[in-house]
Amino acid sequence: MGDKIFRLYDTMSKQVKPLETREPGHLRFYACGPTVYSYAHIGNFRSFLTADLIVRTAKALDWKVTFVNNITDVGHLTGDDVADSEGEDKLEKALRSKEGESFNNVWELAEHYTAAFEQDWQRLNLQEPNVRPKATQHVRQQILAAEDLIEKGFAYETPTGVYYSVESFPKYGKLSGNTQENLRQAVREVVVDDNKRAQADFALWKKDDHHLMQWYSPFGWGFPGWHIECSVMAREYLGDTIDLHSGGEDNMFPHHECEIAQSEALTGKPFCNHWVHTRFLQVNGEKMSKSLGNFYTVRDLIAKGADPLAIRYALISGIYGKPLNFTDQGLRDAQANIERYRKADELVANVTKEGEDKLGATLEELYDQALDALANDLNTPVALAKALEGARLILREGEDLTIPSAASGKRFLDRINDLLGIVRSSYEMAEAPKPAAPQVDPQLIESKIAERAEAKKSKDFARADAIRTELDALGIELRDTPTGTEWVAKSSI
Ligand code: AMP
Ligand code: ZN
Repeated sequence: MGDKIFRLYDTMSKQVKPLETREPGHLRFYACGPTVYSYAHIGNFRSFLTADLIVRTAKALDWKVTFVNNITDVGHLTGDDVADSEGEDKLEKALRSKEGESFNNVWELAEHYTAAFEQDWQRLNLQEPNVRPKATQHVRQQILAAEDLIEKGFAYETPTGVYYSVESFPKYGKLSGNTQENLRQAVREVVVDDNKRAQADFALWKKDDHHLMQWYSPFGWGFPGWHIECSVMAREYLGDTIDLHSGGEDNMFPHHECEIAQSEALTGKPFCNHWVHTRFLQVNGEKMSKSLGNFYTVRDLIAKGADPLAIRYALISGIYGKPLNFTDQGLRDAQANIERYRKADELVANVTKEGEDKLGATLEELYDQALDALANDLNTPVALAKALEGARLILREGEDLTIPSAASGKRFLDRINDLLGIVRSSYEMAEAPKPAAPQVDPQLIESKIAERAEAKKSKDFARADAIRTELDALGIELRDTPTGTEWVAKSSI
């Protein structure tokens, strides 16, 4: 596989270019991980699956991979996604929400959602990262980085925190196109903080002796900013310059822009050579949001009976650089394909017929084409089509399958599984996830849904709400979608 080139779109240079590693044959890769204030949704996993496919493709090309996927368990503020350093810590906010009532403190909440995330990661059959560092376990390094940045003239202390001066780093804005000029306008709408020299400056450290997670620093009690966490953890595990960094499209700005500014100011070296961003997942053609009722966590879908491997299949069925529309039909199609792989896998395991190898050469070619497709900017639709063509060839042999053909079939399925992770799970716990059986008779739920629809039609909203509350008490959550009302049994870990 040494002669193949792995090409990926690079957000910085805005072109598809070969993924180059500083050390030949060794990829050092950092993917931004989840903020553990809630269960990860399928959109989050779309981005993590891009990273997983990159890791798998690199390994198929015989590269060594050091893959880091962090856990953001402090410091990601509600305002951080749109501007800089304002709002509430997402974990603190979650503790005060209805779901938060079941936790004794914010540490327990973080632990719970981290464990749930790791479980979902395995259920969707992603390969384990080499390191899964937690921001809260690297606070000392973050404080040292903030001190270093002040000393080097890139940051300054105010009564409310330590801020990075965006003007001190002329390249700020190169990745996202959010130049300092654009920023002045964008940021002002969100937050004005007179403590900052410029409104676009972002926090490395927030002074706060009321925060539920706080550490002592030369700047007093407080907590780190979200961006410095990733700069520090990437450097700790991968070195000053990394080969590849990924995240969802919303990470491009401000998160990754800020990481570059911090890391390059700290080391004086380029931070990262290749940037990959996954476009957002939509559900039934719309942005996923709780208010639209089309917001799904992995465990929601599993509780509704979806096969985790089918969820994986559906989530990787589109090119990562284009928005993907997740639909029930897409999930059903994925399920049908997963069944084909299961049958093919069973078939090759139970063969007694002597004869020639009729499949080896074709399957070898199909595997090669699937790998080529992934090495060509992760063209998953083509890779999945080639893989399926192979599975169909095996199935078509049926009872005529010979021992040598079955051996080729098995080799093909094993290699396709290493590449795409869709034939069988690598984790025992994920093999037979039982959908949480609803404690309530589905027929009763459906009749309540129909009654509620009638109530809504006749504008009896009080009755409609009462039905929702009634079902909620039975552990059934209703979701109004453009195509009607759906229900899920509320899952628990
Ligand atoms: P968060 O937990 O908010 O820190 O997000 C974890 C990862 O999921 C980040 O890389 C986000 O960019 C990514 N992400 C969030 N929403 C979506 C979505 N709808 N589709 C794809 N990726 C997403
Ligand atoms: Zn990050």
